[in-house]
This record gives sequence, C-alpha cells and structure tokens, in this order.
Amino acid sequence: MTREGSVRCMTFPGGDGPALIVHGGAWDIPASEWAAHEDGLHAARTLGADLLRQGAAATDVVTEVVACMEAHGAFDAGRGSVLTHEGNVEMDAGIMCGRRAAYGAAALLRETVHPIRLARHLLEADRALLRFAAGPEADRMARTFGLRTEPNAWFVCEREAARHAEIARRQTDYHTSQPFHAGATPRGTVGAVARDRQGHMAAATSTGGTPFRPEGRIGDTPLPGCGFFADRAGAASATGWGEAISASLLCGRSVMDARSPADAARAQIQDMYDRIPAPDGAGATGGVILLTARAGGAVAWSTPRMARAAWCAEGASFLVVD
Ligand code: ASP
Repeated sequence: MTREGSVRCMTFPGGDGPALIVHGGAWDIPASEWAAHEDGLHAARTLGADLLRQGAAATDVVTEVVACMEAHGAFDAGRGSVLTHEGNVEMDAGIMCGRRAAYGAAALLRETVHPIRLARHLLEADRALLRFAAGPEADRMARTFGLRTEPNAWFVCEREAARHAEIARRQTDYHTSQPFHAGATPRGTVGAVARDRQGHMAAATSTGGTPFRPEGRIGDTPLPGCGFFADRAGAASATGWGEAISASLLCGRSVMDARSPADAARAQIQDMYDRIPAPDGAGATGGVILLTARAGGAVAWSTPRMARAAWCAEGASFLVVD
C-alpha cells in the first residue's frame, strides 16, 4: 500500500505471445474486501488465460474477462456497482479492437446485466455508424441483441446500499463523497487488456461510476482514449477519477507514449496528478494497465492500492491487491 498521490508501478515482461492484464479498481480497498477482490481477479485471469491458450481473439478475451468481473459482485461494475445520489445503478462500458481501430461503448445503462456485451455488439463492423449508445434506448438496444436485462433493483447489492446510506448520513454534499477524496471512496471499476496469438491487441473497461453522483453523469469509462484504448502497438484500461482521466486522455496517451510501458504508464499517472488539481487541493489519482505488442506491459497507480493481475504464455504472472 502507498500514500495517496505517490505513483507506484509494476512491470510485466516483454514478448509477443498471448498475454493478459486485468484490474479491479484503484482506491483504498479495505482489508474486509481483499479476499473478494482476489477471488474476482483469480476467476477473471483464469478464464482469460484459458481462452488465450485456446487461441481466442483478444477482443473475445477482454469481453469475457470483463463480463466475469461484472458478474462477480466484488467490484464497482455490473451487479455490485456503487449507487447514484438517488440510490440507483447506472453503468458505463467500452471496448476497443486495436487491429480494426474500432470501438463500442455504452453509458447510463440501468438494466443491461453485462454492459460490456452491449459495447461488444456495438464494436462489430456492420454497425460502423453506431458505436456509442446511452440511456434507456441503449438498454432497449441490448434487448434487441438478445442480451439479458433485469430491473434496476436487481443490481443493488447490500454492501452498496449500506455504503449509500452511510454517505447520505454523513453528508449530502456531492463533492465530499467523490473519488479525489482519499479513504474509503470506492473506485472498483474493472478492466482488461490482452494480446492474442496473432499479436492483436484489445482493451475493455466497465464501471458503475462514482458513488453518490448526480444521475446522468458519464465518466471516462465509455470514452475511447480516456477509460480504454487499443491500437496495433498496445492497449490500456483505466480507473480512478473519471473527469481527470478524460481530461488527460489517459489510455490513449499511455498507448502512444513512445517510452517503455513502465515509463509511459508511470509518467501519465504522474502527469494527471501534477496537472489536474482536485477540489480538495491534492492531485487527481487513478490507475492504468498497459500492454504493448512487443515491449511488455505495466501497471501504474497513485492510490493507496490497486487490484491487479496478469498472465502470459511465457509464465510471468502476478495477482495482488496492495
Ligand atoms: N473511472 C470511473 C468513473 O469515473 C470510476 C472508477 O474507476 O471506479 O466513472
């Protein structure tokens, strides 16, 4: 664990074989939630590694890995998402295929069980004129694709209902509950980046947003270049203060930074902290996972902890919540 604002970085070896990095958010994850985070990361990484070993395409791998984490319950995504000021769940997701330079994204979903699956449908080439959908129409679109939907109350778990009640009891000011405030403000967004057997890259991110926010707010997660990005050279997925991640184009700049992945990821997280002041006077914090086509990968974060895991065909792997 580290002090809020100081940047830590973990590297992942080079190579061009199948590889995967996943994250389950960057914040001061309380000890009571470590085991659940580890369990969710383990399930996601195992699924992703199995798919990559079988020769699955990178876009399929990141879709399934993120869907697995949306279903797990430990994270701020899918069922288990944090709640809006009014006590509802609103979810955003985005996915990008580096080879095709195409993305799909969805925002303000209230009923779609797997937001990342709707984003994946919108990524497909025959819908090149429709890449990003939001709101009730997007939930309706999910149904037309045959995706499962449930009433909003289905997504509200006990843990988040209790957290919402506690925030409401402490204060009613939106600002003081937001992610630039250290401590227990949850940022359990999930994401994955993968490189498949063909060397193709993909990135996917899914979130329930930030707690106690006004309804209708959209953060970085469904915005290409911000919460996710992939091209032929690399793929990235972000978590943290969405408004700052968007303003600093965190994922796009991380992938396009010509330095080593570790230097790039670290520099972009540091830059966001230094350049974008939060209303409490500190800098904007968050985390990013970055995987390149040949030069390895990295995870960098400026929060006390980040939940992260990785696997590659050559054998290097890690799974940590510290
Ligand atoms: N980036 C997300 C958002 O601002 C929150 C998170 O990463 O947990 O919506």
